[in-house]
Amino acid sequence: MGEQAVKILKLDVPMLIKRLNMALAEEWLAYYQYWIGARIMHGPMRSEIEPELLKHAEEELYHAELLAERILQLEGTPLIDPQEWFTHAGCKYAAPTDIYIGSILNQNLIGERCAINRYQEIANITSGIDHTTHKIATEILEDEIEHENDLVDYLTDLKLIKEKI
Ligand code: FE
Ligand code: FE
Ligand code: MG
Repeated sequence: MGEQAVKILKLDVPMLIKRLNMALAEEWLAYYQYWIGARIMHGPMRSEIEPELLKHAEEELYHAELLAERILQLEGTPLIDPQEWFTHAGCKYAAPTDIYIGSILNQNLIGERCAINRYQEIANITSGIDHTTHKIATEILEDEIEHENDLVDYLTDLKLIKEKI
């Protein structure tokens, strides 16, 4: 494994692995949050919003891949039991019990805002120290900012539709 890759890092590697595993748990939960929400939601603009939410789901899964790969490079173990997703995630899963499209979008938005904080934090603790993790964190952060922006745009459109009726 990557012994030298770990040796060069002047930071608390177990702490970093713990943070990366928290983020990994959050990505899997975000994946399912988007995936199931997109399928069960009802309301205006559904046909336009559904494919975008499914695209976001795929992007969350890709983030999980990036994180798992980095954890392995750092000689850590990615979480192996889905039950750990709930105990490790700081950004919580919210079951979409209200299937109105606006409620689904709002739940996803809370998740995105939490994710933005997570990657800002990981980018900060690795800045100038662990270039590889820093690059991954900033790449993911860029996606999460885009996700937040998409959701806010849809929520604005929904509000305008409501006002017109
Ligand atoms: Fe993500
Ligand atoms: Fe996201
Ligand atoms: Mg998007």
